[in-house]
Amino acid sequence: MGQTDIFHEAFKERPYWWEAYAPEAPELADVPATSEVAIIGAGYAGLATALELGKLGIEATVVDAAEPGYGASTRSGGLIGGSHSIKKPLVAKAPTPERAAEMMSDAADGFYLLEKLIAEENIDCGFHRTGRFTGAISTKHYKAQEKQCAAMNESSDAGAYMVPRDRVREEIGSDYYRGGLVAREAAHLHPALYYAGLKRAAEARGVRICAKAGVTGLDQNGNGWTVKTERGTITARDVVVATNGYTGDLTPGFKRRLVPISAYIIATEELPPDLLASISPKNRSFVETLRIVPFFRLSPDGTRLIFGSRVKWRDLSAAEMAPLIFERALERFPELADYKITHAWNGNVALTIDEQPHLGELEGLHYALGCNGSGVAQMTYMGTQLARKIARVANYRCAFDTGVFPTHPLYNGNKTLLVPMVGNYLRFRDWWDRRSG
Ligand SMILES: Cc1cc2nc3c(=O)[nH]c(=O)nc-3n(C[C@H](O)[C@H](O)[C@H](O)COP(=O)(O)OP(=O)(O)OC[C@H]3O[C@@H](n4cnc5c(N)ncnc54)[C@H](O)[C@@H]3O)c2cc1C
Repeated sequence: MGQTDIFHEAFKERPYWWEAYAPEAPELADVPATSEVAIIGAGYAGLATALELGKLGIEATVVDAAEPGYGASTRSGGLIGGSHSIKKPLVAKAPTPERAAEMMSDAADGFYLLEKLIAEENIDCGFHRTGRFTGAISTKHYKAQEKQCAAMNESSDAGAYMVPRDRVREEIGSDYYRGGLVAREAAHLHPALYYAGLKRAAEARGVRICAKAGVTGLDQNGNGWTVKTERGTITARDVVVATNGYTGDLTPGFKRRLVPISAYIIATEELPPDLLASISPKNRSFVETLRIVPFFRLSPDGTRLIFGSRVKWRDLSAAEMAPLIFERALERFPELADYKITHAWNGNVALTIDEQPHLGELEGLHYALGCNGSGVAQMTYMGTQLARKIARVANYRCAFDTGVFPTHPLYNGNKTLLVPMVGNYLRFRDWWDRRSG
């Protein structure tokens, strides 16, 4: 198939999710002169912080450089994990088993918090508790998954179990895997509709959201902060940085702790029901043990395949990357060759040196940052925990609030050399592991 043959005549280079809800700012709320807390970034992290502060009776203003939701939060794959996988980080020290268990347990709490929030706020966002299948791309990876499975079940109610190679087709219509792991406590949702509901909930608690008010300067004074935006200046007691993969020169201390990379997704045209049922007989979400991990699922209405990944380490446009992503989908599901794609898009995620998310306080600024590609539940949870910390009502210290947000001597915030170098290394490791069987 030629590269352009994959594009449907109705192809759009924008998120499929935006057919249901697209970031918008029909009226711009004035930037207030004062606010108890000013939050920079109106993604899940910023809004969840603001919502919880609103519930606790603390005045919060969220400012964003673009239309609220224009960042990653309306663009994701919408796959939700419970206790997350704790890998040995590439350059930082591996967490001890005790520390890994703490993080897995908190990540599982994030899943339940998200589920509860969606129910309490009546957010109609196609939340399906479908479980997740993680396909092992080699026998060695399958063996490692057995240990991971035990650790997940010990630290939370993940309900995880192993699926041997001869039973993989009960989970997924592909012969690509050497087995896999099912985590029952996992789900998928429509990320933009979840975003819209979270925004509505925050606004209902009195949170002011100021669109197109990029922050251009931050000055600390005796009583707090002066936050200069493109549309006015706010004096605030506390400031929260929730800019994740869009963190820039405004906060150099965070910029050198975060590596922004672009993630890409395609959506197929509507597929025949029998093909959909064979691809995903249990409507699970899917990831793999590859280091450069593909992630995929059916759309919430069960009519299309939504398939995400990253293939090249140059920042290509979504339309340029789409044929390469489609090729990856075809390796798993050759039957897709007869179908086309209707949407392709991308957005930024933020990696951290130790491959874990972080919340806390640095240089007087509060932060919830570093989703490492998994942020729907995680950033909602971290925002909520951060709000409780600011309000001084937290009754325990969240596992991602370690007081240490690592840097690396070889990284100063400029990813030009680092990302292709690390990306190609990871790709080689993936190729090698796959080849070894
Ligand atoms: C393609 C893709 C697929 C993904 N798939 C999944 C998935 O399946 N499951 C999952 O759990 N996670 C997934 N993620 C990750 C998830 O979407 C993110 O972790 C999450 O949305 C991050 O939320 P956030 O609030 O931290 O940041 P964002 O939603 O990115 O918001 C940051 C905001 O900060 C604003 N900003 C930056 N600088 C300034 C400034 N100076 N002044 C004002 N505003 C500023 C930006 O405009 C932006 O709106 C995916 C991400 C992408 C891009």
